[in-house]
Amino acid sequence: MAVNRVPLLAGNWKMNLDHLQAIAFVQKLAWTLKDASHDFDAAEVAVFPPFTDLRSVQTLVAADKLSIAFGAQDLSMHDSGAYTGEISGAFLAQLDCTYVIIGHSERRTLHAEDDTVVAAKTAAAVKHGLVPVVCVGETAEDLEKHGPSAVPVAQLRTALEGLDAGADIVVAYEPVWAIGSGQAATPDQAEQVAAALRDVVREILGDEAATRTRILYGGSVKSSNIAGFMREPNVDGALIGGASLDVNEFSSIVRFQKHVGV
Ligand code: PEP
Repeated sequence: MAVNRVPLLAGNWKMNLDHLQAIAFVQKLAWTLKDASHDFDAAEVAVFPPFTDLRSVQTLVAADKLSIAFGAQDLSMHDSGAYTGEISGAFLAQLDCTYVIIGHSERRTLHAEDDTVVAAKTAAAVKHGLVPVVCVGETAEDLEKHGPSAVPVAQLRTALEGLDAGADIVVAYEPVWAIGSGQAATPDQAEQVAAALRDVVREILGDEAATRTRILYGGSVKSSNIAGFMREPNVDGALIGGASLDVNEFSSIVRFQKHVGV
């Protein structure tokens, strides 16, 4: 992790926790981090609840002035209109969402989202003032055939095409084989791909964007392995699935700077 980028620890709840559970969770997370004297300026924390929780989380965060960011897990590539079931980026911006996850491997696999769809959604997020967390990553088969970087690099190139150099984005490198499998990549593997992804940001958006853009690692991150990833110069945080649903475990990940050797 480079000193000039504030690390981001982002919890992707997937389809877990209803709006009442979300309120209880975010309250407990805030208390736990406050009790532990967490420095929110030194490591940013964000949660990504289901759409139906967002208004409740927004209200709680505003009322209690919590330093916890939040975002959605997807958005429509369209602004408004006859798109039943879709959610516009404009609506998410109205709910004070800072971020939106785009191109998660579960969306790519279960909802057939290809790189063109991911690019359109990335552009829609930026248009509505949201920071897209653009997910890229190779399957086990890709890894065997092409090595670790080729597929995520190609995915990111398409996603970023057409963005302005000033676009505020986050990239999440999530090897598909590591998601929910309990088998995380090694810090070395994550660093190698993160460095290649930063080169893509540089090539398409320029030096300034490459220097400021945060690149996260995701895939079976836990409190016991986060420190290793965060020691890598091109890894600026993590996108966390399963472990983000346990307040104590997630808090411990967020407080990685307290772990030995970081
Ligand atoms: C994810 O779904 O983005 C993820 C990284 O999941 P997990 O941490 O459970 O592997």
